[in-house]
Amino acid sequence: MRVDFNVPLDKQYNITDDTRIREALPTIKHVLDGGGAVILMSHLGRPLAKLKEDGTVNVEKFTLNHLTKPLADMLGTTVKFCPETVGEKATKMAAELKPGEVLLLENTRFQPEEEKGDIEFSKKLAALGDIYVNDAFGTAHRAHASTTVMAQFFPKENRTFGFLMESEIKHADKVLNNPERPFTAITGGAKVSDKIVLLERFLDLVDNIIIGGGMAYTFIKAQGGQIGNSLVEDDKVPLAIDLLAKAAAKGVRIYLPVDSIAADKFDAEANFQNVSSNTIPDGWLGLDIGEEARTDFNKVIANSKTIIWNGPMGVFEMPNFANGTKAIALAVAEATKNGAFSLVGGGDSVAAVNQLGLADEVSFVSTGGGAMLEMLEGKELPGIKAINN
Ligand code: AMP
Repeated sequence: MRVDFNVPLDKQYNITDDTRIREALPTIKHVLDGGGAVILMSHLGRPLAKLKEDGTVNVEKFTLNHLTKPLADMLGTTVKFCPETVGEKATKMAAELKPGEVLLLENTRFQPEEEKGDIEFSKKLAALGDIYVNDAFGTAHRAHASTTVMAQFFPKENRTFGFLMESEIKHADKVLNNPERPFTAITGGAKVSDKIVLLERFLDLVDNIIIGGGMAYTFIKAQGGQIGNSLVEDDKVPLAIDLLAKAAAKGVRIYLPVDSIAADKFDAEANFQNVSSNTIPDGWLGLDIGEEARTDFNKVIANSKTIIWNGPMGVFEMPNFANGTKAIALAVAEATKNGAFSLVGGGDSVAAVNQLGLADEVSFVSTGGGAMLEMLEGKELPGIKAINN
């Protein structure tokens, strides 16, 4: 079973947020309860990008053994740890595993073959078990050995998604195929360049696109606005003009923030004022959507039946510039209460919803940042394709 146990650890290697492990428990328990034994594979961090000075892997820092005891406690069963990912010892330990027991293999990314999707390595991993389960949605967009390539060594009836992954796919499908309308996409975050494919795709999917965050200022500039020192990607201005024209031709309404909270520097303690987004004074920069924009966006959200949200409305890490994101999160929660389906996915909007304690008040919060983004962009993820084909 491929899981995503890429959890944050403190200096003493204690887990500081065990969400990812907890989310994999239902699938693990399902196999154990059904009389199976589970061999777990995961990566932890980027060990090959952070080699020790002598060029060797920093095993002490990146070993998955840090997770053995916490996992055993959470599962209430024996968890054995194998200090290699494949090899004689792994083969022996896997063969000796009894029903109800769990074997945790060493960090898949200790092996350079993992990220290369090496066939021989994948074959060795596959030989350890009878059934392949992929529950690591967060890495489903990577064609690595343990996330994708090894699936081909199992007959179709012996490879499957775990519950977490199944739920992610089901919810993404729900918004991508036959969504109830009006359908609104809310996008934000820092850069237009990161969201181009997503925005192009939304033009064919949704009725309304709300654009907030730093990326809005490239669009406002494209429309002739004075954006002061706000974040802008000048080379993307032609693209913004093109997107606005395409949206108009397709009848998709684009909403930009009419006003902004402008600050005199990029700093949590900066002075700030609510100004028109078209007339931000020189030296000032828009760090959040303004009050009128919140009301405008709120109305669109309240009238929506399907909502996708990706990216914060402002620099929400700084309390003075978090109110726009907060207002949007509350609006999405309210719309959900009134019957809309809402999916929050891809990166910082997930952090924002969690930070505000609203995760239970939206329909679905995706666990896979990049993976969900690629799914919404319409790409077929290699990890999903490998199971389905
Ligand atoms: P992304 O990863 O593209 O979703 O971008 C998220 C980041 O965008 C967060 O760290 C925000 O602080 C940042 N951000 C949002 N709005 C702005 C803004 N108006 N100016 C600069 N950065 C912003």
